[in-house]
Amino acid sequence: MSTTDISKTDVLNRYLFNDRHVRGELVQLSQSYQSIINNHNYPLGVRLLLGELLAATCLLTATLKFEGEITVQLQGDGPVGYMSVNGDNNQKLRGIAKVVEVETANKAHSLKELMGKGNMIITVKPEKGEAYQGVVALDQPTLAQCFSQYFEISAQIPTQVWLFSDDEKQQVAGSLVQLLPDGDGSNENKAQQQDDFQHLAQLTNTIKADEIFSLEAEALLYRLYHQEKVSLFEPQAVSYQCGCSNEKCLSAIAQIEGDEIEKILAEQGKISMTCDYCLTTYDFFNEQLKSFISKDSH
Ligand SMILES: [Zn+2]
Repeated sequence: MSTTDISKTDVLNRYLFNDRHVRGELVQLSQSYQSIINNHNYPLGVRLLLGELLAATCLLTATLKFEGEITVQLQGDGPVGYMSVNGDNNQKLRGIAKVVEVETANKAHSLKELMGKGNMIITVKPEKGEAYQGVVALDQPTLAQCFSQYFEISAQIPTQVWLFSDDEKQQVAGSLVQLLPDGDGSNENKAQQQDDFQHLAQLTNTIKADEIFSLEAEALLYRLYHQEKVSLFEPQAVSYQCGCSNEKCLSAIAQIEGDEIEKILAEQGKISMTCDYCLTTYDFFNEQLKSFISKDSH
């Protein structure tokens, strides 16, 4: 197996069961997770669920076969208004949660307590081509089960997802096992493949949180599937990256009426914009905003 100096703390591994027509993914994250929750003061339940959503979005973006990005948003009528993680094919991700009822959210732990009745909306945006969206109800006990259901409904491929989130360790992790889409297997083959998938899902189901947080991929796969032939692909680094920038803020300001900009400048001496995701504040002064004002003023 290949060696690489890739960061061991934030890494995605993909693997294949050579004799089984089944593939798998394993993601283990800490720094990217910490960057997402840092400074936001989220309640415990929100931190944990956002971590699960981060791990799940990594597993999902790993299935992208083109350049592009995926946004997974949870929306509901619970104390958390929405929660969203966005990632691209280079595994650069960011995430946010909007808590609307802090006191209730402080006591909430389960998916249902946090999000209430709602949906998971998955938007896939290829760099070239049309975006498309899939929606599943958040009607399962856990986020992992909602994701498994999404794969089965949207892709119609038997898939099982496991998610782990630990506040003390500040680590999150996830695993996915999926039947490979099939071309022209006989029914007998298909039944066998289905059995294989079930068997491997049962093995994966024995992962313990302390194992997925402490073992490296090779050791973990050996622990789970030592009787199987498993090919591990090159690991991929996962990192936190917010897409905000001066330019994006300016193009948002360009949407504001010129006299409105003048009014804010007169009152505050600048226009400040703070990114919801990373909390970076961008300040723009008269000089930088001149073109927007003069454009609209007559
Ligand atoms: Zn940002």
